[in-house]
Amino acid sequence: MSNNTPMLYDNLNVNEAGHLTIDGIDVTELAQEYGTPLYVLSEDRIRENCRKYTRAMSRVFREGSMPLFAGKSLCFKGIYPIIDEEGMGADVVSPGELFTCLAAGFPKEKMFFHGNNKTDADIEYALDSGIGFFVVDNFNELEALNKAAGERGIVQKALLRVTVGLDPHTFEAVNTGRIDSQFGIPIETGQAEHFLKAAIDAENVDVLGFHSHIGSQIMDSGSFCDQADILLGFAADMMNKYDYTATYFNIGGGFGVRYTEKDPVVDIEKNIEEIAEHIKNGCEKTGFPEPIIFMEPGRSIVADAGVTLYETGGIKTVDGYREYITVDGGMTDNPRFALYKSEYTVLNASRASEEADFECTVAGRCCESGDRIAEDIKVQKPERGDIIAVLGTGAYNYAMSMNYNRIPKPAMIFTKEGTHRLTVRRQTFEDLISCEI
Ligand SMILES: *Cc1c(COP(=O)(O)O)cnc(C)c1O
Repeated sequence: MSNNTPMLYDNLNVNEAGHLTIDGIDVTELAQEYGTPLYVLSEDRIRENCRKYTRAMSRVFREGSMPLFAGKSLCFKGIYPIIDEEGMGADVVSPGELFTCLAAGFPKEKMFFHGNNKTDADIEYALDSGIGFFVVDNFNELEALNKAAGERGIVQKALLRVTVGLDPHTFEAVNTGRIDSQFGIPIETGQAEHFLKAAIDAENVDVLGFHSHIGSQIMDSGSFCDQADILLGFAADMMNKYDYTATYFNIGGGFGVRYTEKDPVVDIEKNIEEIAEHIKNGCEKTGFPEPIIFMEPGRSIVADAGVTLYETGGIKTVDGYREYITVDGGMTDNPRFALYKSEYTVLNASRASEEADFECTVAGRCCESGDRIAEDIKVQKPERGDIIAVLGTGAYNYAMSMNYNRIPKPAMIFTKEGTHRLTVRRQTFEDLISCEI
């Protein structure tokens, strides 16, 4: 390969025509067949990522431990059979995600209902669906859940969401484990203890343990270990004070992924081993029985499985300033640059074997100056009609996509062992007005 653009992931390559391939398939042919913009998802890669978690977790944690796929990163029907077959559970954060997961036939008992503001209707819907666990965020929800479960003659399994007050040095917007957070109830202020007491007293709620999520894009086991220490300390304290023994610790999501070559490769299995070792030692020290562990990976399951394909439109030089490449999608299918200035690796899939020496900014097609995919990057110089590939778009792209400027959402396909199939059809203009009376 004679280009200087990093391939980032080992399922990407360049063929004899100089085109980018994913799982051996020429992406320019995919663009031709399905149109652009197009989300391409490698099923092979998703399954590999799932297995990193399931293998390590079943080896090092207590029996019953399991990764739960954080559906908020990529929620659509087609993902759930894969998640189920790979032996994972699923987190849902809204009734819409719950509906999608149910519609896909996912086993109810492996579903966990998240969210910091579940309405009464949401609570009733989840109870009537027979969802496995609630992750209860606050006192009001606990009360509402207890009441609704009682009315149904159900005792609902639940975890309590607590915050451990850690800052894992990630971005503000994805950092939820601090004390000052709208998610969960803090341990440090003593409120989590009251939360647990209230939950123990709630007759129709069976509190089986705790949930805590310290943030996303975490690159090593360190902050998970710190989190585990705080959870264990709290759990041991509650055991001594109230004779309450938590069975489950849900330690949340977020091993990081590689968006650009600056990002490290996270050895998920090694990190899980380190966390397990740490928890075992902590249990020995505190005399707390080893808990069953849940983790909630989202992006590390799907991000590096996704590539978005666009067609190049205008190529524009603003003299004295910069060059722009305009693509036929943008913030409507990938709002992450507009929201967080998230960096991505971009390459010209039609000329992937050429030198990536064209410095440019990649803009979308919205009437919005913030509609950009990447700024001041280098790609192989494109011509109008070339296919541009943005790597690492499997997480929080389709999930965050929107219809701003009445731009229809792209189609999504799976690649698997050299084959491909449509899993989400492209929105039509009719879809855009389908709710309008
Ligand atoms: C966002 C989130 C996750 C998933 O985070 P990733 O970075 O996608 O792995 C898991 N659990 C909770 C509670 C979250 O808010």
